[in-house]
Amino acid sequence: MSGYHNVMEFLVVQKLEDVWETLDCCKCDKCRNDIIALTLNQLPAKYVVTKEGELYARLAELSNEEEREILIALAKSAKLVKAHPKHEDI
Ligand SMILES: [Zn+2]
Repeated sequence: MSGYHNVMEFLVVQKLEDVWETLDCCKCDKCRNDIIALTLNQLPAKYVVTKEGELYARLAELSNEEEREILIALAKSAKLVKAHPKHEDI
């Protein structure tokens, strides 16, 4: 399978997993998906052409600056979702 892929999706999910336990927000799937979507909306898409076996080969090119931007966007999104969860309080 080859094609193109927004590698930012993968990066955001990966970073979210790194910081998930430290985020002060609801930990349900709905809120998790909201945080991912909100975060992706704040970040530029980063498309890579993919080939079987090299899907995320360009991940190593993520700069410190990009990593920092992802973390900032994640924190911002978690705060937003916490303030306005899309479900009743639990
Ligand atoms: Zn929730």
